[in-house]
Amino acid sequence: MADKLKFGFYWAASCGGCEIAVLDINEAVLDVVAHADIVLWPVAMDIKYDDVRAMPDGFMDVCFFNGSVRNSEQEELARLMRQKSKALVAFGSCACAGSIPGLANLCRRQDIIDNAYQWTPSTENPDRTRPMTSVKVRQGELHLPEFYDRVYALDQTVDVDYYLPGCPPPVPLILGAVTAIFEGKLPPKGAVLAPAKTLCDECERNKHVAKKMPGLKRTWEIQADREKCFLEQGIICMGPATRAGCQTRCINGNSPCTGCMGPSPEVSDQGAKMISALSGILRVDDEKDLSEQDTAGLVNKLADPAGTLYMYGLAKATLNPGGRP
Ligand code: SF4
Ligand code: SF4
Repeated sequence: MADKLKFGFYWAASCGGCEIAVLDINEAVLDVVAHADIVLWPVAMDIKYDDVRAMPDGFMDVCFFNGSVRNSEQEELARLMRQKSKALVAFGSCACAGSIPGLANLCRRQDIIDNAYQWTPSTENPDRTRPMTSVKVRQGELHLPEFYDRVYALDQTVDVDYYLPGCPPPVPLILGAVTAIFEGKLPPKGAVLAPAKTLCDECERNKHVAKKMPGLKRTWEIQADREKCFLEQGIICMGPATRAGCQTRCINGNSPCTGCMGPSPEVSDQGAKMISALSGILRVDDEKDLSEQDTAGLVNKLADPAGTLYMYGLAKATLNPGGRP
């Protein structure tokens, strides 16, 4: 049998769901281990950073990196994974675009720290203690990673070969990527390993797709009709600006898409594209509907514009540009 490939998995600023998605491939994991040795997977295997540093450069054929980059340790490990891997895959929405951790880019670093260590009602911190990057104790000096000013997507930190989006990436796409790796059929560098069409293209409700949107409603305000497009019912669904590939898993559960597969092909800014789509169909009866002063107006009905339109893509949005730390 030909030499087995070497796979690595690593996580940075993430919830851990992407790691679980790897296990969701169920018995197909047996095919994976038949063709590849997993040489790094901190959530499942004991391995030290020095073990990774001791690997020859390019030792791992593919490293699946999930999570965004928020602190100096994550940046150091992103650079190490890049160095030790022939192909680096941004695995999941946080690595691809910063995702939900990236929403913290709306806040200043100091406010985040003060909130966590002072302002919350359950916090008692009379000495106003804050984490420090180094502290001297009897046994020597201890170091903590530096908490950066903002969240970065993986490719704002290191060069990325492939993108596998989703929160978490859908199992069929994981299997498709792994099969392409085993068969040597990966697309050109830089490709997103998901279908090149919008979610609306694969949505069954597309036959009733909205021509007009009757105002804005929150999901809890109505019992959504399972047959009709969410937009037609006044509920924001990110489908028109979102890449296909999840088999409409939220829509199937009668929840609108929040956009976790990232921007559809040809779209660089998912939120801006959605604003453009909404502006074409949203019914506005009265100009004062668009005024911030009108508490019942449309502007105020969109309770959380950034969280709704940029839940997964703020760190790479046009209005929140960022480069390497
Ligand atoms: S907007 Fe949402 S519900 Fe409507 S067709 Fe697109 S994905 Fe389906
Ligand atoms: S429907 Fe939207 S939010 Fe839900 S899994 Fe698919 S792309 Fe992600």
